[in-house]
Amino acid sequence: MHDVIVVGAGPAGSSAATHLARSGLDVLVVEKTSFPREKVCGDGLTPRAVQELKSLGVVTTGPGWFPTKGVRLLGGDRRLELPWPNGGLGLTRTRADLDEILARNAVRAGATLRENTKVTAPLTANGRVQGVRTSTGTHKARLVIAADGASSRLSVALGLRPRRDRPIGIAGRRYFRSPRHDDEYLEIQLDLAPAGYGWIFGMGDGTCNVGVAFLRTDHPDYHQLCSRWLASLPPSWGFTEDNAVGPLRGAALPMGFSRRPHYLPGVLLAGDSGGMVNPSSGEGISYALEAGRLAAEVITTAFRSPFPEHVLRKYPAAVNRANSTPFALGRAFTRALENPHLMRLATHQGLAHPPLMRTALRLLGGLPT
Ligand SMILES: Cc1cc2nc3c(=O)[nH]c(=O)nc-3n(C[C@H](O)[C@H](O)[C@H](O)COP(=O)(O)OP(=O)(O)OC[C@H]3O[C@@H](n4cnc5c(N)ncnc54)[C@H](O)[C@@H]3O)c2cc1C
Repeated sequence: MHDVIVVGAGPAGSSAATHLARSGLDVLVVEKTSFPREKVCGDGLTPRAVQELKSLGVVTTGPGWFPTKGVRLLGGDRRLELPWPNGGLGLTRTRADLDEILARNAVRAGATLRENTKVTAPLTANGRVQGVRTSTGTHKARLVIAADGASSRLSVALGLRPRRDRPIGIAGRRYFRSPRHDDEYLEIQLDLAPAGYGWIFGMGDGTCNVGVAFLRTDHPDYHQLCSRWLASLPPSWGFTEDNAVGPLRGAALPMGFSRRPHYLPGVLLAGDSGGMVNPSSGEGISYALEAGRLAAEVITTAFRSPFPEHVLRKYPAAVNRANSTPFALGRAFTRALENPHLMRLATHQGLAHPPLMRTALRLLGGLPT
């Protein structure tokens, strides 16, 4: 019998496991893959994410960590460089590296990590989740955290399906060797297509992570759009087939709390499983790390309380409080993006008004003030 079983060792799961193990709890993390493993992502870490990494005790300097100064927004013939607010620091790091660092950090904190072990079903009794069934056996715990990503089979098995009234994104990324791999600004092309944008993130290791994101899943083939966009970029980026490292890979972005509730008796949802991707930016790592921390805080308090269930029921409100502004603004923003005329106008006008864009970056990105 464990105190907590964490399903999935992505940012949400490893963050929760680290914070829980540090407070002395017995934590089992079950991960279906083994590290290092690839995860389709833009690999961009905002100052929000860097703050969470610090709270996990992760050292974010040295080989592999590439510091960024801010974002460069492009639209029409305009471009605008916006430094991170308050001199904040951003980073890029491949997810193959980042997720292994986070998982090993959880183990160092005292959690037990079982790799190559897939959770196949929840164990339920008396209307409560009491553990999980895995490919290698059953495991019981006082609580379970579903941190198993966008498709979250565990949540689906508990009857929690994504809400249809929340935006869902689809994004694809590819790595290219590039002479501009050490660009210190995250470049974002705003007017790539209706409700879509493109990104170029320097990895500082000789490559760039290049990708496109769209709001709807019924968008025309993103492979084609990405190729067309790349062909239109200045040759100085070097995004040719010869410089490509691996294929374009895509995945879903569950946004704006698309799966709820975030607590059912015995189980808490953290990260993509609970649709915790910011609708206006597609950023999900910092929200996953944060939800893992909040879940750990609530669980630690609940285990010390004479009324644990009462405390656990407060977890959804804690997650909501942390993100209500950027997520509500983001949902409104995504509705506006669906209108190509409005989108063009906003891009054109916005890029001509740096103070407005600075405020938008801070508010929509939920960045520390
Ligand atoms: C193309 C793309 C680009 C993106 N770019 C960015 C970006 O630049 N910056 C940013 O902040 N966010 C970005 N995101 C979003 C970000 O990748 C996610 O929000 C983030 O990974 C969520 O973390 P998580 O821990 O909730 O889930 P995940 O990272 O998906 O981790 C889930 C883990 O659970 C494991 N798992 C799943 N099922 C089971 C099971 N049954 N049993 C055991 N283990 C299981 C998986 O193997 C995985 O390790 C991007 C997303 C996409 C698709």
